[in-house]
Amino acid sequence: MHCPFCQHEDTRVIDSRLAEDGATVRRRRECPQCSERFNTFETAELKLPTLVKSGERRETFDERKLRVSFERALQKRPVTSDAVDAAVRTIINDLRKSGEREVPSRQVGELVMRELKKLDQVAYVRFASVYRKFEDVQAFREEIEKLERDLPGLEHLQLSLLGEGGGRRGKKS
Ligand SMILES: [Zn+2]
Repeated sequence: MHCPFCQHEDTRVIDSRLAEDGATVRRRRECPQCSERFNTFETAELKLPTLVKSGERRETFDERKLRVSFERALQKRPVTSDAVDAAVRTIINDLRKSGEREVPSRQVGELVMRELKKLDQVAYVRFASVYRKFEDVQAFREEIEKLERDLPGLEHLQLSLLGEGGGRRGKKS
């Protein structure tokens, strides 16, 4: 690349190393004409898709919002922030790998559910109950029953969750 100091047409790479985040290569360059040195940073161009919300509304993907979804669902649950970080990274990687320019926000919600299911069953049900806006107690009960079949040992979950969320009314669609 051109020297930013004297505009000489070529510069020499004198050092190249991976940055701490593992996703950036830092190169130290030197201009053979004026001998100035400078750094360049190389990262993969992997854009995250735009989210398409209901009503065709577009929204820029926001990692912070994704993290908040996890934190809300995991409130007072015994899950480390490292585990949450890993789950968030997994979702971001999946979205990048998809190569899609736009994804329905619903799809991200499904990915959050998938990750929460691995992290903590209570958090998963919490998120799913709000996210899927269960229309009635019956739909919620069915979901819990499905979960109980998948994950044995949740006998007491149903009662505690139904007690906790008893006042919530799902929106009819
Ligand atoms: Zn130069």
